[in-house]
Amino acid sequence: MECIFCTIVEGAIPNYTVYEDEYSLAFLDIHPCVEGHTVVIPKQHGAHVFDFGANTLAHVMKGVQVTMSRLQDILKPDGFSVGWNHGKSAGQSVPHLHIHIIPRWGIDGGGSMHSIVRTTTQRPVADIAQLFS
Ligand code: 5GP
Ligand code: ZN
Repeated sequence: MECIFCTIVEGAIPNYTVYEDEYSLAFLDIHPCVEGHTVVIPKQHGAHVFDFGANTLAHVMKGVQVTMSRLQDILKPDGFSVGWNHGKSAGQSVPHLHIHIIPRWGIDGGGSMHSIVRTTTQRPVADIAQLFS
């Protein structure tokens, strides 16, 4: 089945573009959490961050910065939550990498990264650190 975000890049499905360059397309999310909720995608297809080379990722991150700057200038939020759902268990529904930019306002009642998940049974941090040494 055709990837819906590739179809958007091809122009076969319209979008409300916030920013575009050779590597990235940023457009308003069709089901926004808040006003200005935008997703930034690489124009190249790939489901996950692991599917892209450093050069493309660097350009997409630049696209995220410029998109945030446009949103800041026009909507003037107090802050942003920025990130992506990686994999189905993390809530990824479209298998084409997309970075969510969610403008935040002090009164929006939303949470931080720490409100996404909190397990009550965890190994101590020092034990996890051992796995990386
Ligand atoms: P995910 O849940 O995969 O992290 O995020 C996918 C996002 O893409 C959702 O927020 C959803 O609303 C948005 N989305 C899915 N299809 C379309 C579309 O055709 N156009 C636009 N503008 N957004 C879409
Ligand atoms: Zn795609």
